[in-house]
Amino acid sequence: MQNAAFLETRFPAWYEAIELEAEEAPAFFALLREPRWLGVNVTIPHKEAAARLVDRRSRDAERAGAVNTVVREGSELVGHNTDISGFLRALREDAGFDPAGCLAVVLGAGGAARACLVGLADAGAQRIVVVNRDVGRAERLVAELALDNLTVASGDRAQAACRAADLLVNATSVGMRGGPAPDDLPLPIGWLPARALVYDLVYRPTETPLLRAANTRGLPTLGGLAMLVYQGASAFELWTGLAAPVERMRAAAAAQVEEASECSDS
Ligand code: NAP
Repeated sequence: MQNAAFLETRFPAWYEAIELEAEEAPAFFALLREPRWLGVNVTIPHKEAAARLVDRRSRDAERAGAVNTVVREGSELVGHNTDISGFLRALREDAGFDPAGCLAVVLGAGGAARACLVGLADAGAQRIVVVNRDVGRAERLVAELALDNLTVASGDRAQAACRAADLLVNATSVGMRGGPAPDDLPLPIGWLPARALVYDLVYRPTETPLLRAANTRGLPTLGGLAMLVYQGASAFELWTGLAAPVERMRAAAAAQVEEASECSDS
């Protein structure tokens, strides 16, 4: 997706994946101050550590306590969080859903959940309920974020929240190909009312078990690819100062996801 954007805009840069152990991150961030780097994206499990390793953080990165995009400015590293804007842009532009005043249930308490909780609060959601397998982790996250109208629910209270929800976000890895529970649903689909938008942040496969179940029930749905593309487009704009070729990036990302699915199916 990023290389397609660099080629399309003839920007002289190249993007590649680098796998790091946690203990290697500080030394790697020191190297990033060299002029040959524009910056990096950071993914699981380094987003919180990256927030500590940069020199400055954007407001979004500060609020989420997580950095997914680092930009080198001179010899300084600036941390951003483009997951938040990517999450909201997909919700608004691809699903036509305005979160202002809504009741949202967010499944999960990891890095992805962090970004969508901050995004939903910023966008004026009336009430946000976090449901997670490890309830203590959800409680710690909610205490740390200290956002208005944000609560944790489990058991019957989680089910009651789902029954009243306008929006359900799956920010767990349940349903992700190659993840811990690729064939499972993160909740019984019958808990949701017929109007609820089902937004699965998982983008591999494009139709997750949750999206399939929601489609079968006739609920509106949104997959995770749009958020992936928009967070990447914002990162591209931060690194290059150019407008991102979003449709080119979307096509490249969709082709990669498709290709990865075919490889793992065969
Ligand atoms: P993470 O920090 O590792 O968190 C994983 C979450 O999934 C935790 O809440 C964990 O619950 C839950 N979980 C894992 N296995 C489970 C199971 N078998 N049953 C119930 N809950 C389970 O990961 P993350 O960074 O938040 O990412 C979560 C998902 O979002 C991934 O699939 C990732 O690909 C996707 N994502 C998409 C985008 C996008 O742009 N579309 C961006 C970021 C992430 P516990 O706390 O109980 O362990």
